[in-house]
Amino acid sequence: MTSYHYLIIGNGAAGLSAAEIIRRRDAFGRITIITNEPYLFYSRPGIAYYITNQISERQLFSRSHSFYREHRIDLRFATVRSLDLEGQLAFLDDGEPLAFDVLLLATGASAIRPPFLGGDLEGVVTFDTLDDAKRIIKYSRKAKAAVVVGGGITAMELAEGIRHHGTRTHLLQRGDRIWPRLFNEWESTIVENQIRHHGIDIHYNEEIAEILGARGRVAGVRLKSGRVIKCQAVAVAIGVRPNLQLVQKLPIQQDKGVVVNQFMQATIPTLFAAGDVAQVYDRWTSQHNLDVLWPSAINEGRAAGYSMVDVAHGCEPRYRYQKASPFNCALFFGLHLTVVGRVNGSPGEDVEQLSYLSRGSSHVWTAPFSPSYRSAWDKDGTSSLRIVMSDGRIVGAVLLGNQELADPLRRFIEQEVDLSNYQTSLMAGGTKLPQTILRAWRDWHQHW
Ligand SMILES: Cc1cc2nc3c(=O)[nH]c(=O)nc-3n(C[C@H](O)[C@H](O)[C@H](O)COP(=O)(O)OP(=O)(O)OC[C@H]3O[C@@H](n4cnc5c(N)ncnc54)[C@H](O)[C@@H]3O)c2cc1C
Repeated sequence: MTSYHYLIIGNGAAGLSAAEIIRRRDAFGRITIITNEPYLFYSRPGIAYYITNQISERQLFSRSHSFYREHRIDLRFATVRSLDLEGQLAFLDDGEPLAFDVLLLATGASAIRPPFLGGDLEGVVTFDTLDDAKRIIKYSRKAKAAVVVGGGITAMELAEGIRHHGTRTHLLQRGDRIWPRLFNEWESTIVENQIRHHGIDIHYNEEIAEILGARGRVAGVRLKSGRVIKCQAVAVAIGVRPNLQLVQKLPIQQDKGVVVNQFMQATIPTLFAAGDVAQVYDRWTSQHNLDVLWPSAINEGRAAGYSMVDVAHGCEPRYRYQKASPFNCALFFGLHLTVVGRVNGSPGEDVEQLSYLSRGSSHVWTAPFSPSYRSAWDKDGTSSLRIVMSDGRIVGAVLLGNQELADPLRRFIEQEVDLSNYQTSLMAGGTKLPQTILRAWRDWHQHW
């Protein structure tokens, strides 16, 4: 019996999910996972709750050493420095070549480094890993004041985490409201109120010109407006970029990430990519898009695992991956947020196009609307519900606060349920909107 070698670079959601499927489908294969982090698999989104003390370090880990042993997964703590795809070799930091039959690139994405002067001072942090989380806690405990830069979920999680430790926290926003690419004005206001309620100072239309230092440490920031804020820590969350360093010079199709087909295969058949590093076809935009989402990484990793076994055994891959509608549920400042599908907060408005995707989000969310898209919404003081419809179907939803309708809306969107009969009532918005969604949901359940 031939034993094939499956090599996986990355021990995150995509890499581990692939390994689990491979072991299920090939009892004899050799599986190696390589990670340059000194940890077993942990929940990366969970580190946002770790810095606010909502969960302990131990709760981040859902796989023990015995899991790797029982699944006969050889986990190696090393960095892959280069690849020879033709020779099917990976070179580790000690120079050791590792031969493989099929390779999965599951290297994730990394935060954009601070692009301003002073970005390398002690006290400047980005937020990718558990080690970053530990640094953030350390700096927060020492600092009297901190500045957080960025407009997405990670920036808000950072502001909440730092504030939790009693540090005076300033949140800088380049625009004039919170996350305008995603939220409409009312949604931005709900989030803003919640942020202020937690004692955080928000500064709109402000950007860092320079991080000021003293003896190699952060001492403050000078803003482009000329204003200076004294602080001892700066947290930067201005977007992420897929970790493509290993393949950048290799002859495979790449755009923002590694472009893969429906089998998660790159343009070289023995190379697969999944998770934050992969650019995957999605039917919602008819484009290859990036997601920086945990559920997407798991599903793509699993899909890659199926195809890797087929290809290792000399067969055509059979398992076609169909990307689900990208979604995220998050909790920040005590506020629940669910985003599903296409929800662009400012269609038609001249809102700045971001160069980089923020964590916990998808390109699909903010893709430009087609003219047939219509939205409707309902709101009260602390909650809001917005849907986007096209051709009698709901194609996107944002729920802030009350999450009662999150599940029905996800199902309607994912299964492209025809709601033409309810459209007039849905589009009326206001209190009719949640009532009609519930009615449609009950009717749909009875029917199916
Ligand atoms: C603070 C934070 C909050 C988040 N919040 C959410 C959220 O609310 N909802 C959501 O859906 N998603 C969220 N995400 C995003 C989610 O965690 C990622 O989409 C997901 O972890 C991607 O999984 P992955 O396997 O592709 O990559 P990763 O989990 O990043 O794993 C990549 C792995 O590759 C390894 N690696 C990279 N290069 C090399 C190399 N050369 N050699 C060896 N090893 C290498 C790394 O060490 C790492 O183990 C959040 C992420 C962060 C950091």
